[in-house]
Amino acid sequence: MYSQAPRCAECGGRALLVEEAVRALVRESLGRLVARRCPQEDGWHIHDPANESR
Ligand SMILES: [Zn+2]
Repeated sequence: MYSQAPRCAECGGRALLVEEAVRALVRESLGRLVARRCPQEDGWHIHDPANESR
């Protein structure tokens, strides 16, 4: 699911996902990942705070 998602050029090529998919990933990560709404497109991104400097 994640690897097949369209990429968002505005957000550094992150996978653009529907909210339901993002929520499921966050839940499965046990809180390691966080969900953020994309500021440009109608969709959501997964962020990994432990592996991102920004
Ligand atoms: Zn985006």
